[in-house]
Amino acid sequence: MASALNLSAVNSSGAQVLLRLESIEKQFVGVRALKGVSLELLAGEVQMLLGENGAGKSTLMKILAGEYAPTSGRIVVRGHEVSGLTPETAKSLGIGLIHQELSLVPALTVAENLFLGRMPTTRFGQIDWNRAYELAAEAVGRLGVFIDPRAPVGRLQIAEQQLVEIARVLESNPEILLLDEPTSALSDSERERLFDVIRRLKGRGVGMIYISHHLAEIPMIADRVTVLRDGSVVGTILPEQADEDTCIGMMVGRSLKDQFPKPVVAKGTPVLEVERLKAGRTLDDLSFTLHKGEILGIFGLMGAGQEEVAAALFGLQKSHGRIRVNGKDKGITTPADAIAEGLGLLTRDRRQSLVPMLTVGPNLSLPWLSNRSFWSALQHKREGQEVERYVADLKIRPATTTNPVRFYSGGNQQKVILARWMSSGASILVFDEPTRGIDVGAKADVFALMGELVKRGMSVLMISSELNELIGMADRVLVMRGGSVSAELARHELSQEALLRHAS
Ligand code: ADP
Ligand code: MG
Repeated sequence: MASALNLSAVNSSGAQVLLRLESIEKQFVGVRALKGVSLELLAGEVQMLLGENGAGKSTLMKILAGEYAPTSGRIVVRGHEVSGLTPETAKSLGIGLIHQELSLVPALTVAENLFLGRMPTTRFGQIDWNRAYELAAEAVGRLGVFIDPRAPVGRLQIAEQQLVEIARVLESNPEILLLDEPTSALSDSERERLFDVIRRLKGRGVGMIYISHHLAEIPMIADRVTVLRDGSVVGTILPEQADEDTCIGMMVGRSLKDQFPKPVVAKGTPVLEVERLKAGRTLDDLSFTLHKGEILGIFGLMGAGQEEVAAALFGLQKSHGRIRVNGKDKGITTPADAIAEGLGLLTRDRRQSLVPMLTVGPNLSLPWLSNRSFWSALQHKREGQEVERYVADLKIRPATTTNPVRFYSGGNQQKVILARWMSSGASILVFDEPTRGIDVGAKADVFALMGELVKRGMSVLMISSELNELIGMADRVLVMRGGSVSAELARHELSQEALLRHAS
């Protein structure tokens, strides 16, 4: 039975409803991103929207901002149903969206970005640049920072760009403010200032949907928490109920304990022996032996040297020391050498490893192509088969092979890189901060894959600053301090306390 649409601007408990969504559906080519989403935003509330990467959060926000048309469903703003929203009508209804991928024009200045299309003019009708710079400095200043209004946005740091994006949207005085992961690049103090602004807006009755991956922000800012999973609302709860386990359980549909599926694998022969490795400014002296089937963790606090290990092993930066692969001395000086020796690398920053504009196929075949460019016709056929196999095997989503990988979530990009190394025949995988920037559900997938890899006889060097994931997955952990190893802990000795004690 279809439920009657409630157009009232006041809900059953008398609160003023700014926005009501009913059964919003969004179908992209090959992806059903939203499956009947309904929610209600009250005046003066911060509703935190949680969900794994790919859950549909950004899509929902873009629909509200008039950037995407919903496939079906209804949007009611202050008691009036609106249809055919465009960015302009959304803005005139007081809806403002702070984008996750910033929507600024890099070549234009801060001031131009802030006032695009409505630059202040002199009484002769010309652009009043001085006034524009003054207003821009003020607008950004309200966020408690100084950013040169004359600077081209492309030259700013990511955090500064994020602040300009926020200032730009606030300039339109939205009554319904949508914030899509606004704090992802901000420092703690910048975030605190943004929260001050949010609290002020709350006091003025502005309703906000606030998207973030940081569960710790819930008690700081949220009035209610709504969780989205696979395009559906799982539920809306109060901050008091929203402890980490509950939220993660709602987001991924499984509990924290299932996150680390550590397999039991017998330790085999040494596959990678590293002696007195030295590289960069912080890595002084690292020696270790990685065995077949082993997950060897490396932990260190910032600047302890672990940041340089992956690049040194992979020939991405100059290093000294001895590297033996499968018992033979290897002079690894370039990434091609490392690949030829059967090494694979998952970088900290996925953007370094993927070609965002290309689809899964070419991204998968990068290492073979660099090896054997002669056989490109054959490779092409192989690529097609491999892509299908890995997309299915690793549950890469979306399962279509025609989308550029930049449309994939961080976790799925991570899987594409893994698939690449599996198909290139790598047997030693270096995971450098494997879960940085990916959400809980994708993390569980990455760990499941890691377990799968060692079961198939591969070996993993896991460089991580996440205590829990090392404790969850590693057979052994080398703790680094001041550029060298300060302790080696066996699996049964691993605890947060022990790791931190040896690291600091
Ligand atoms: P979230 O913001 O929660 O991480 P998104 O809304 O970005 O999730 O994505 C939801 C799903 O829709 C994902 O599977 C994503 O790949 C897909 N998607 C998002 N935008 C597009 C698009 N423009 N074209 C095709 N698929 C898209
Ligand atoms: Mg998003």
